[in-house]
Amino acid sequence: MDLRSLIRDIPDFPKEGVIFKDITLLLQNPDALKETTNELFKLLNGQKINKVVGMESRGFLFGPMLASKLNAGFVPIRKPGKLPSTTLSETYDLEYGTDTLEIHIDAIEKGDKVLIHDDVLATGGTANAACKLIERLGGEIVQCNFLIELTFLNGSSKMNDYSVQSLLKY
Ligand code: IMP
Repeated sequence: MDLRSLIRDIPDFPKEGVIFKDITLLLQNPDALKETTNELFKLLNGQKINKVVGMESRGFLFGPMLASKLNAGFVPIRKPGKLPSTTLSETYDLEYGTDTLEIHIDAIEKGDKVLIHDDVLATGGTANAACKLIERLGGEIVQCNFLIELTFLNGSSKMNDYSVQSLLKY
């Protein structure tokens, strides 16, 4: 099915000048929901994964469904102050200022085979910080996969050390 037809552009969201890719129509369509999960799963080409790591907040939509198909666990990476137990944090640069992501220190074990998943790869700052957190905890990043890649923002150039796959490129 045509998944692209279920992704709409919202101009000036969350701030002026940004065209936001909205996936809510895709999420509310039962066939699209199943097909998207299956297609993201296929991007792995049979590689073994034991933890899927999803970034707050839209990485929490397909991340756990992928984990379930992969017989893997799911690990959330969140914005500061949201995770209740002991965390490790990574700060990264934005166009203006910085942002920080956190993970529970006991969420990844040495040698874990990790899939990083998020809905959108934009500048790559978020995904890169997530990769660093996983590696600092001793995990091995097998793939970073995304539903959408905004290729004009060159996010994948920040991710040269990793295998990056995305379902839909714009
Ligand atoms: P990056 O760090 O610039 O690559 O931004 C990626 C993060 O911002 C992801 O967690 C996305 O969920 C979010 N994001 C950026 N642009 C969009 C968009 O157009 N639609 C939905 N989420 C977006």
